[in-house]
Amino acid sequence: MNDTKYLFIEGNWQSGDGKSRTLINPYNEERILEIKEATEEQASQAVLAARRAFDETDWAINKEKRISLIHRLADLLEENSEEFAVAETTNTGKPIRESRLDISDSAACLRYYADLVREETGSEKKNPDDTISKVIEEPIGVCALIVPWNFPLLLGMWKIAPALAAGNTVVFKPSELTALSAIKFTKLIEQSGFPPGVFNLVLGEGLPVGETLVKHPETDKISFTGGSKTGQAINQLCAGTFKRVSLELGGKSPLIIREDADLDAAVEWGIFGAFFNQGEVCVASSRILIHQNIYDSFIERLTKKLEIIKIGDPLQEETEMGPVISKDHLDKIEQYIDVGQQEGATLLTGGRRLAESGFYLSPAVFTNVNQSMRIVQEEIFGPVVTVQSFESDEEAVKLANGTKYGLAAGILSADVRKAEEIASKLKAGTIWINSYHTPYVDAPWGGYKQSGIGRELGPHGLAGFREVKHINTSGILQRADWYNF
Ligand code: NAD
Repeated sequence: MNDTKYLFIEGNWQSGDGKSRTLINPYNEERILEIKEATEEQASQAVLAARRAFDETDWAINKEKRISLIHRLADLLEENSEEFAVAETTNTGKPIRESRLDISDSAACLRYYADLVREETGSEKKNPDDTISKVIEEPIGVCALIVPWNFPLLLGMWKIAPALAAGNTVVFKPSELTALSAIKFTKLIEQSGFPPGVFNLVLGEGLPVGETLVKHPETDKISFTGGSKTGQAINQLCAGTFKRVSLELGGKSPLIIREDADLDAAVEWGIFGAFFNQGEVCVASSRILIHQNIYDSFIERLTKKLEIIKIGDPLQEETEMGPVISKDHLDKIEQYIDVGQQEGATLLTGGRRLAESGFYLSPAVFTNVNQSMRIVQEEIFGPVVTVQSFESDEEAVKLANGTKYGLAAGILSADVRKAEEIASKLKAGTIWINSYHTPYVDAPWGGYKQSGIGRELGPHGLAGFREVKHINTSGILQRADWYNF
């Protein structure tokens, strides 16, 4: 890519007139791409383009056209999947194996929503008073889709696929740090032949670009994934007009390991849950809660395994952990390592910078922690895990539920019935028993408490991009017979 036109508005590529930005490869700190970001005015133009496409074309009502274009888009994404995986790894630092999963899951998400919409037959029923009730689900209108940098394309797709399948038009804003896959994806949108204005891409920071999309009077729905603080600000901005909003926010998810769990399996899931994608995952199991009787042997094995994790060039097949996203983020994580030690926790292993270049941090484990510490309560969003012990299932549940978040949780146990009993008491949107991390395109994803509002994926994810209309019809016009006329 060597032109500078990276905004896509009403079917045209244009250069931003805003801030200049260089995208950086977190592995070697080399420049990937120079970008000119959008101005407020350009973000507003994108919303108006989406408005026109929604109001003045047949997009919202031509379901067959939408289904075939979305499938064409999925075909193109699959045909170019390796190029997309390399781009995602180059921009985020995530190991190439993970990027490949992101791309295949993205294509699957497009197909899932196209097929879900295709299968719908509508609902109609006769009431006891002989009227007919029809329930119609309609697209909301212009949707602003705002995503973070940890799964740039995949989290985008969790919004783009249902929004378009439902008949909305969209303005997509990736994180300012990770625009590469979004630009490539938009080229596929163009190649597939989507009508102008149905999909628009704007690039830039939350201020001014994201906020312009949120505040714009012609934006009907905001679908946001990101930090809880940003989510709060967006929710406040939407409250004045009751603009539709769904929020996928942060987490501090627990992994409960019962006494009967196989220890080797528990160590591997513990590492996978906390350090997959360098711990930069909203559902990362950043708090391990383990039964006191197996605590010592678990800690011993955990420390040994962490020493042999393959940290390195994320484009190499064998790499298991890459760098974190940016220098600023690395600094933030290191501050938390300091905070933990100041709070009196023991840094058992890791938490050290690893290379001259690249934003590498060795996976960190804190022990001797208590529930009120900041490293237990606050989302660090990096390769840092705390380990606490418990005596009983009741105590595990109390510790697990003891933060303001409620995104996910895991339970490892030989006794699935007991694990299910624990699951029923946890306040979290996704709970994995004897597993962790896998999202399922047809199962809901989202948070309790301060981890969000609404759900993505599955039929719930589609519902988030629709308004529901009930039309009640009486076949003949008769008097109401209510008044004594
Ligand atoms: P962030 O909140 O800083 O930014 C997310 C997106 O919002 C970016 O595109 C950013 O430019 C934009 N933005 C920032 N301020 C804005 C504003 N005032 N108005 C509109 N848009 C604005 O988050 P981040 O640092 O990019 O991502 C990390 C966070 O995302 C973590 O808290 C993580 O838990 C969360 N996350 C949640 C999920 C989930 O499914 N619940 C998934 C991934 C990440």
